[in-house]
Amino acid sequence: MGDLPCDNAPAQSAFAFQDGTGGIAVLKRSSAIVAAAKQRSPLVCDLCGFNFEETYGELDRGYIECHHIEPLVSRNGEPAPTRVGDLALLCANCHCMVH
Ligand SMILES: [Zn+2]
Ligand SMILES: [Zn+2]
Repeated sequence: MGDLPCDNAPAQSAFAFQDGTGGIAVLKRSSAIVAAAKQRSPLVCDLCGFNFEETYGELDRGYIECHHIEPLVSRNGEPAPTRVGDLALLCANCHCMVH
């Protein structure tokens, strides 16, 4: 836990992970792609299929968590653009499980 840049991770650890690869700019890009991923509908957990919209409604759209399938620096050590496909949307339980 803590070695992947997830939107629910403390800002400090996310920043530490990005250290040397573009810092804040990378962090901002990551936030943008996370926001884009959460536009998906219906909003369900990729692992267990938990349906956030069905259970909580629109109000809790922000509660699903984003997991980066590939760390940003994994490709030859160079920062690579993150695509929506690089993210998994997970409920908190499943997110804990994959770490
Ligand atoms: Zn789940
Ligand atoms: Zn994660």
